[in-house]
Parts: sequence; C-alpha cells; structure tokens
Amino acid sequence: MIPMVDLKGQYQTLKAEIDSGIRQALEATQFILGPNVQAFEKEAAEYLGVEHAISCANGTDALHLAVRAAGIEEGDEVITTPFTFIATAEAIRYVGAIPVFVDIDPHTFNIDVSKIEAAITPRTKAIIPVHLFGQPADMNAIMAIAEQHKLQVIEDCAQSFGAAYGDKMTGSIGLAGCHSFFPSKNLGCYGDGGMVTTNDAAMAETLRMLRNHGSKVRYHHDIIGYNSRLDELQAVILRVKLKRIEQFNAGRRRAAHRYSAALAQMPDVIPPFEDGKGRHVYHQYTLLSPKRDTIQKALNEAQIANAIYYPIPLHQQQAFADTCRGIKLPVSEQVAAQCLSLPIFPELTDAQVDQVLDVIRGVVS
Ligand SMILES: *Cc1c(COP(=O)(O)O)cnc(C)c1O
Repeated sequence: MIPMVDLKGQYQTLKAEIDSGIRQALEATQFILGPNVQAFEKEAAEYLGVEHAISCANGTDALHLAVRAAGIEEGDEVITTPFTFIATAEAIRYVGAIPVFVDIDPHTFNIDVSKIEAAITPRTKAIIPVHLFGQPADMNAIMAIAEQHKLQVIEDCAQSFGAAYGDKMTGSIGLAGCHSFFPSKNLGCYGDGGMVTTNDAAMAETLRMLRNHGSKVRYHHDIIGYNSRLDELQAVILRVKLKRIEQFNAGRRRAAHRYSAALAQMPDVIPPFEDGKGRHVYHQYTLLSPKRDTIQKALNEAQIANAIYYPIPLHQQQAFADTCRGIKLPVSEQVAAQCLSLPIFPELTDAQVDQVLDVIRGVVS
C-alpha cells in the first residue's frame, strides 16, 4: 500500500513541536488573529520575499478576496486556465465576473501564453495564472502582456508554495498571490487555511479589512467584508512546517527525479516536463500516457494510490455551461484524457518509487 500523501508519517516526525505549540496556544486562549497568526504572516512574508502576507480561512477565499480587492466586478472578464481546480474560476464568478478560459501548454500544463492576447477584449480586467502541480506559469510573458494591456495579475499559488520563477518566489510577482494550506498542499495545516501575498500596501489594507468584516477598527465597518480568518491553532502547525518547507520540497523533487529518470526510458509514457525557468516543487507528479487507463488499473491492483488531476477541464463543467457552451480547448481535453498523478510526498522512499515504477514497467513494455 502506497498512499498519495503520508500525513500520518509526517505528523509523527513533528509531533513533539506541534503538540507543545498547540498546548501553549490553548492556554493563551487568543484564538482569533492571535500571536501565532501574526507571527506566521511575518515568517511567510519573509520566506516568500513579499511585503505583506494576509492569512485567511482557505485558498478559495484567498482567491475571492484578492479578486474583490483588485476591484474586479460584475461583467468584467478574467483570463485563466481551464486545467485547474474549480476554485480558481469560482472566485471569478463570486464577484459576477466571467472566466475566459485559454488553452494550456501541452508540456507544462500551464496557461499557453501565446494564446492569451487573442482572448483579451475591452472588458478584460485580469489574468489569473495557476502554477499547476508546483511548476510556475511563464510569468515574464504574462507580466509583459498584462502591462501592455493594463491588466492585473493574480497568481494562484495553491499548489506552488516554495516554487520559484527565476529568483522570485511564486506569489511575489503579480499584484497578489493566493495560497492554500489544505492538508495535502506543499505547506498544509490540519484543517483549512489560506493566505494572500502582495507588495501593494493599499491592496494589503483592503485584504485585511475584507477578511475581517470590512473593519480596520473594531466595530467600525468601512466596507462589506467576510469572516475569513486563519485559525490560531492552524497557524501553530503552519509555523512548525514552514521551518521545514525547503526540506519537504527537496524531498518531493528528489522522488520526482527518480520517477522521471526511469519513466523516460519506458515506451508510451511521458514524464512531467520541467521548463528550467525556476524551481518546480511537485505538488503533483503527473505523467501522460495513451495507456493511462491500463496503468491506472495495474496501480489499483497493486494497492498504489493514484489520481486523475483533472478528468474534466473547467470549460466542460456543467457549472460553467452558461458561458462556455461549444468552446473547444483541445490541448486541455487531450491532457485530461491522458494524465495520471502518482504518489508524491516528501517522505516517499526510493524503494516506494521503485515499486511504483515496477508496476508501470510491467504494463507498458
Ligand atoms: C487547492 C486549490 C485551491 C483552493 O484551495 P482551498 O484551500 O482548498 O480552498 C485553489 N486553486 C488550486 C489550483 C488548488 O489546487
């Protein structure tokens, strides 16, 4: 049995520190926007090289708050990728704006920057690239297009905590970066959590208000906001894990490179492509194969966890049928039909990687 992620095994290695931190936070009883939340925001901002980090309740809220703080409104259009988790595009719809899906690059699975300009209209306000599976989108090209057309850029960093594009961390390049601390993410807590990063002071101030009922001073509400705060206990856990994020991501990269060296030698399998523009942190290890279903069956029989991220691109989802009917995005559709994600987590051993590889080798060669 090999799982997709091993949260239990990781907790055992962090238990002493997490348990004592939680006990202290319980004794302190400062549960809402308490000292651990404040310390985590400072430590995360420092790690990511940004001026401001504003934590919130989850990654979906991070996107929603950033879209609202950026001033995106009803009827505006926002360009994004169809090959992502639905939350990226849900956030656009929450403010009444319309997601415009641009097809992906067949190698990186990120938005195809050569197709963005054709999708820009007078109503376009922003681009939301997703650093899918932990590999940064092509941010130089995206920022150049955005500058030329006066568009805002909001990075979806839910899968890329610790990834770099050139010498910049993801989440430090656009107007805002949106992070998720869902338990299985590269930096995960033990429940829900999220954060927006920005170098724009006005944006940061609006985000701080939005996450706390539109308030700067208690019981003075300047705008209609939300209750979307990071929990003090989750912040304790995140502080323990943030100290080890480089080591965790290095473990993912090590396992990924072992997979790729072997898979590159097998017929009918395309290992994930690293574009060499920064650091891929392998939130997922996702291969392509015309024999995807055969490989998946063999892995299931060997009790090796696996998953299809994502089986249905967003332009083909019922939830977006009103604006996407008849739209064809062939690369996304092809990738959705051939992609398969293998177990990947920092503690994955060489022996486990080899066990997965043996099963795949058995059905493709
Ligand atoms: C996980 C994820 C989100 C949403 O994060 P939650 O914390 O689960 O709300 C958004 N975008 C992408 C690409 C994700 O993978």
